[in-house]
Amino acid sequence: MDALAYQRATDIDAALAAAQQPGAAFIGGGTNLLDLMKGGIAHPLTLIDITHIAALERIETLPDGGLRIGALARNSDAANHALVRTRYPLLAQALLAGASPQLRNMATVGGNLMQRTRCGYFYDTAFAQCNKRTPGSGCAARDGVNRMHAILGASAQCVAVNPSDMSVALAALDAIVQVRGPNGARAISIAQFHRLPGERPDLDTTLARGELITSVDLPPPAFADHAHYLKLRDRASYAFALVSVAAALQLDGQRVRAVRIALGGVAHKPWRASVAEQRLTGQPIDTATLRAAAAAELAQAQPLKGNAFKIELAQRAIVRAVMQAAGQAPHASGDLA
Ligand code: SF4
Repeated sequence: MDALAYQRATDIDAALAAAQQPGAAFIGGGTNLLDLMKGGIAHPLTLIDITHIAALERIETLPDGGLRIGALARNSDAANHALVRTRYPLLAQALLAGASPQLRNMATVGGNLMQRTRCGYFYDTAFAQCNKRTPGSGCAARDGVNRMHAILGASAQCVAVNPSDMSVALAALDAIVQVRGPNGARAISIAQFHRLPGERPDLDTTLARGELITSVDLPPPAFADHAHYLKLRDRASYAFALVSVAAALQLDGQRVRAVRIALGGVAHKPWRASVAEQRLTGQPIDTATLRAAAAAELAQAQPLKGNAFKIELAQRAIVRAVMQAAGQAPHASGDLA
């Protein structure tokens, strides 16, 4: 058993000071960290409990009309907040698609951003090969059971996917992650917050050691009227995505004025579908146009032995999510997921 110290911080400065200790880790809801500790994957020496920092729980409008969601806002509170539901329905839908009601009541927005991959080899220490857990050891998933793994942006070192639904919606909404650390405050775009694995799959994010997420800021709402989060998974609830799509539109009649599409379950980070977005901008909403845009996005996919099905699934999911965001029921033909 590892020796473990516990400290409670009641303001941000105290939390940052405590985090300077070797082996310190912040704990909020603990819904992922405690699993990692019990599994022998995470070994913090001191847990800094930040759940009593009231300033980090607030959800409030910003002067520019955007929304600030405190890092300690519970996932269920954020999903059910009136401003989130009415102005950022894409985010509300994504939050409610994640985990179970009990977990959403406990998990925080900041913790959701930090949750680690659910690759089975990462969690099972009986497997020696996992570059994310033990850098340089190899990747058991590459030639193992990889049905759930990445088809986009992976590396020879790691083919894991990010498990968060919330982060996929945040990627589509161009959220900003506000952090504070020993060197002050900084803002990180959601596109820069999570990493592709490259040569350092042990690093999930660009957060520096000792930095604390204080809030997630959303720009003024521009996509509330046409947004849809589609999650495809092996069972109807409490399962991670095989593929998910966050789609948001601005329309001129039935033509796309602006579009945001992000994919989950396909890469080490939420995957912004910028190729498909460019193909769709200015175009009519119809199945053929959407399929062509989705195919262009997935042309860069590199499947593994067990997950080639995700390429077609992701294309169909993009078509369906955008159609539903546009208020058009997907066609009844078999060409949609
Ligand atoms: Fe580890 Fe990544 Fe390979 Fe999974 S995919 S075994 S997390 S290195």
